[in-house]
Amino acid sequence: KYDVLIVGAGHGGAQAAVVLRQLKFEGTIALLGDENEPPYERPPLSKDYLSGDKSFERILIRPQAFWGERGVDLLLGRRVASVDPKAHSVTLSDGAVVGYGKLIWATGGTPRRLTCPGGDAIGVHSVRNREDVDKIVEELPAVTEAVVIGGGYIGLEAAAVLSKFNKKVTLLEALDRVLARVAGEQLSRFYEEEHRAHGVDLRTGVTVESLACSDGRVSGAVLADGSVVPAQLVIVGIGIVPAVGPLLEAGAAGGNGVDVDEYCRTSLPDVYAIGDCAAHFNGFAGGAQMRVESVQNANDQAATAARDIAGEPQSYNAVPWFWSNQYDLRLQTVGLSVGHDEAVLRGDPATRSFSVVYLKAGKVIALDCVNATKDYVQGRALVVGGLGPDRAALADATVPLKMLVP
Ligand code: FAD
Repeated sequence: KYDVLIVGAGHGGAQAAVVLRQLKFEGTIALLGDENEPPYERPPLSKDYLSGDKSFERILIRPQAFWGERGVDLLLGRRVASVDPKAHSVTLSDGAVVGYGKLIWATGGTPRRLTCPGGDAIGVHSVRNREDVDKIVEELPAVTEAVVIGGGYIGLEAAAVLSKFNKKVTLLEALDRVLARVAGEQLSRFYEEEHRAHGVDLRTGVTVESLACSDGRVSGAVLADGSVVPAQLVIVGIGIVPAVGPLLEAGAAGGNGVDVDEYCRTSLPDVYAIGDCAAHFNGFAGGAQMRVESVQNANDQAATAARDIAGEPQSYNAVPWFWSNQYDLRLQTVGLSVGHDEAVLRGDPATRSFSVVYLKAGKVIALDCVNATKDYVQGRALVVGGLGPDRAALADATVPLKMLVP
């Protein structure tokens, strides 16, 4: 039995163990995960790990020896199949039972798969873990044409890397613009043009009916109009399904993720949930219940749960931030733009350095900053303060955003 059992050795799980020790928590801690590797960073999987610019060792969250030194037992390659909240124990897929005093559920999500015919052919990949990317890299030399399905951040980043490798890339997005769920139209159009300028055949409003195969290996994507886009490699980036089955089966409240309160507590006693799988009430989205898929959210919720366990509770109210690297473009986002009713453009996208400021009911709720780190840093105060600056000044890129903070 462990005083704290953390299920999921990803971003949130690792950070929870780190913070518990930083808070001088002296009880026993186990970090249990179904992957075989010690915790590593996921964002490079579609960026510099896929491109080969970073080795796996460089994306480890902590050096391998760290965990032992801090008295954190790493139980890798193990998967929790069920949770018994009364007995305070979990049962693993190999039948072993592990007891806990407190349980932190940090399991992230499983990539949504294509359900159409051919969706499970050889050469069709998600980008969620190291294994996925190692397989893609292994297949790349034999690939001349690749299809990316889904124009979210992961799909776009993967397309950028593949085009850098001189593959003929076609990106297919079902909605009428890329990044539709996470950004405003100006940003979507900017990235669409960038990808096209880099030779990506980016198509929106397109649905994939099936994947064509020969000998079990993918050979192309068949579109609704019957046309076929040839491909020896297909990357599917159409979102995740939160990995909360065992918790919900054990009676935890939830649906799309597991519900948590402001201390990341689930409805089950002594069970916390953090990161991609945690449906929380976010103050930066007007208090709406939501899941946030970002390193920031995983790390800050890890700290929230750890503090509660260590007897120093502090409710979750961290400022959301996010980034994405495509080509030589560094996007930095602060706040959550969902539900904005106004978008103010700062600077000229043609210069490849600009920002979009999102407002709701006259107050700044988020910024997307492309190669504009100053706006990102200074704009944070606008989001935190929920300020409503003069629009002309906001749109004038020569006026530093810090001048708009009283
Ligand atoms: P994860 O890091 O996914 O960890 C969950 C772990 O739990 C996994 O190892 C999983 O296999 C394991 N697990 C699941 N079920 C079980 C079980 N039953 N038993 C045992 N183990 C289990 N965020 C950003 O902020 N910026 C970025 O640029 C960015 N880029 C990204 C690029 C890619 C390719 C991906 C996949 C994600 C990216 N993200 C980015 C999102 C970010 O990585 C996630 O939000 C973050 O990893 C969430 O952390 P987590 O701890 O909730 O889940």
